[in-house]
Amino acid sequence: MSLLQVSGLNVSYPAGDGMIRAVRDLSFVLDAGGSLGIAGESGSGKSQTALAIMGLLPGNATIEGSVRLDDEELIGQCEETLCKLRGSKMAMVFQDPMTALNPYMSVGRQIGEVLELHQKMNAKTAADRSCELLQMVGIENATRRISSYPHEFSGGQRQRVMIAIALACRPRLLIADEPTTALDVTVQKQILELLGSLCEELGTGLLLISHDLAVLSGLCGNLIIMYAGMTMESGRTRSVLSRARHPYTRALLETLAGLHGDEGRLPVIPGEPPDFLHPPNGCPFHPRCRHAFEPCDKVDPSYRFSSDSDEATAGYAACHLEQRL
Ligand code: ATP
Ligand code: SF4
Ligand code: MG
Repeated sequence: MSLLQVSGLNVSYPAGDGMIRAVRDLSFVLDAGGSLGIAGESGSGKSQTALAIMGLLPGNATIEGSVRLDDEELIGQCEETLCKLRGSKMAMVFQDPMTALNPYMSVGRQIGEVLELHQKMNAKTAADRSCELLQMVGIENATRRISSYPHEFSGGQRQRVMIAIALACRPRLLIADEPTTALDVTVQKQILELLGSLCEELGTGLLLISHDLAVLSGLCGNLIIMYAGMTMESGRTRSVLSRARHPYTRALLETLAGLHGDEGRLPVIPGEPPDFLHPPNGCPFHPRCRHAFEPCDKVDPSYRFSSDSDEATAGYAACHLEQRL
């Protein structure tokens, strides 16, 4: 059964005499208890997608399309309804826990508040449950640490606290937007494993956003590859990564393979990043694509299913090359 159904989602912002189209005609489904990854370069529209689902876009954003959570339409809902859903039915973990946590309130109070608000627990029950939640996310001496303030925790521990807050009410959907990029590699791995196992245990659907395909490959059953606010390719994660139908996916995989290049810097895909205000005609990736051919700068490639008569590598891609085969 589908938990989250996004159909024809568009997010845009007024800019000069035009519009910046941050998300363009995005559609996907996340099954209940399933896991879906969204990958793409910086600026591809990943966070805008997450914020649109959560109803957290800034006031000057125009949003069109449909976002259904358990078949309830979220687009156009009033702030009061969205506020009730956030925390109880859907929750989000951001990249930087320090900006999401209140520095003047103990972590116990911050978890307790969520439980009192959404689960109507009294202060004593909420405090006990907060302690259990801290233990659940692997914070040692939880009974004592419950009275500590965010600055008394390490970066990894703060992200664990954020996960405890997000999962406090056993939401149906958890969105994690680059939850570990601010942390060192060993801690990243631990936090991601924790996130994956807790979501599985609680039956929470996970939408995990990252520019790092390696991170997504271990945790997500399905994968979407975004470029310039659009889906370039999607399918089972294993299939997308092994078959990589779209040249953009292949370029992303190449940058990943060169992650520890000679200069120790993160390589980028050659060419200019997309111009959101004046997007090119045809395929948005064509100015950077090594395989571009005759129709690519004129005709939009349709987003089509292809299977090579092998179900294991079936998937969707928006590329003229696929459609020529
Ligand atoms: P990153 O990996 O760096 O987090 P991202 O994929 O999450 O990138 P988004 O934050 O979703 O990228 O941004 C997508 C595009 O939306 C940006 O390139 C930017 O052009 C546009 N955008 C985002 N916020 C605004 C805003 N408030 N006003 C105008 N344009 C915006
Ligand atoms: Fe490259 Fe053309 Fe495919 Fe776009 S449609 S990715 S330009 S081959
Ligand atoms: Mg982002």
